[in-house]
Amino acid sequence: MIKTFSFRTLGCRLNHSESDSIQYDLTRRGLKAVSCLEPADLTVINSCAVTRQAEAKTRGAIAASRRASPGGKIAVIGCCSHFCPDKLMSLPGVDLVLGNCEKYNLYEYILTLEWGGNGIYVSPINGYGAFSPIGVASSGSQTRAFMKVQDGCDYRCTFCIIPFLRGKARSRKIEACIEEAKLLEDLGFQEIVLTGVNVGSYKAEDGKDLCDLIELLLRNSGIKRLRISSIEPDLVSDRLINMVKNEKRLCRHFHIPLQHGSDEILESMHRKYYIKDFKELIDKLSREIPEVCIGTDVLVGFPGENEENFVEMYEFLEKAPFSYLHVFRFSPRLGTVASGLEDDITPNEKKCRSSILRNLSCLKKRNFLNRFLDKTAIVLFEKRIKDECLVGLTDNYIRVKAVVNRNFINELVKVKLKRVNIDSVEGEIISE
Ligand code: SF4
Repeated sequence: MIKTFSFRTLGCRLNHSESDSIQYDLTRRGLKAVSCLEPADLTVINSCAVTRQAEAKTRGAIAASRRASPGGKIAVIGCCSHFCPDKLMSLPGVDLVLGNCEKYNLYEYILTLEWGGNGIYVSPINGYGAFSPIGVASSGSQTRAFMKVQDGCDYRCTFCIIPFLRGKARSRKIEACIEEAKLLEDLGFQEIVLTGVNVGSYKAEDGKDLCDLIELLLRNSGIKRLRISSIEPDLVSDRLINMVKNEKRLCRHFHIPLQHGSDEILESMHRKYYIKDFKELIDKLSREIPEVCIGTDVLVGFPGENEENFVEMYEFLEKAPFSYLHVFRFSPRLGTVASGLEDDITPNEKKCRSSILRNLSCLKKRNFLNRFLDKTAIVLFEKRIKDECLVGLTDNYIRVKAVVNRNFINELVKVKLKRVNIDSVEGEIISE
């Protein structure tokens, strides 16, 4: 009899938000959630397939689950299940593999597991046009909730498997988003992070776009902070920039995937802009929005990326006003256009290029953080990391640690930023 479950979630914020919703559903139906370090009757692995490394992490999570719960069952759900179900099902300990269309009915599949309903349930994503019902509060942390407002993507970047695993772009109804925002507020959340595969492409049935959604969420809820998880560069409008500039509750944080710093590679990736456009955008953001944090994703080792392309990317990243970089190594994903190109950069070279960019990211992060020394900031404290140390975020994505006796978790507190550590700042509370 399955009475307890634990979750292991890999990949993006959208996956985490979906895991929270599914966990909420299982708990509502009477199952008990336990930590993934404790034995559970069932371990659910919400998987990721965006790169080969993500696939390997899914296999690692299966092995770790077997160690933590030797007698328990294992269900793998999500993108990797959709991508290679047979491979996952053949791994020791796996009882159930559910694709992206099936994962929301996990509870029904758990019931069949009791009667020997092991197996693979993955239906094709083609034409899957419904926005998957969530309708429950997501609870990424005690203070920040990742709220899914969009799924799927109609772009066809040549390296990306996501549109094949998540289907076409679709958006959640505005009324449902407002309802969940109010619920999250009632539950005590201070911040909502709008999440999706391509959030900027949000389009409600009546044509309302992301800016309309944000305006309505701010108008109809008292939520203290609203953050956009990430947005494609061609979808950052002047209206959005003005909103972030003028609306205090909207976080001054943009995560805008660049993917590459050379026009030649961007073309080959089928991205929708050139470096000149991207530069104009981020220059405008840093001009218009004081203290804005701009982060980005970059992919190294794309087929054909020669030394010159890489240097071009490095020089662009070095000069551009980025606060941090997320660096990924290219790996061919079966079914994408890029998987048909010659993967001509050796693993060592990819590793070397990615480590150069990771070092650059550390430098950029440090320079960004240094700009705020001796300034005051409002921090939303999220958790206690040591006996007396709390950690939280500013709206412009600075991680702040503060030694303090009182429990400020889930409170917005004024802090003086005193010292820069590797990727955070030590602060002192100046208002209680
Ligand atoms: S915008 Fe490109 S990289 Fe992002 S999910 Fe869509 S296809 Fe993938």
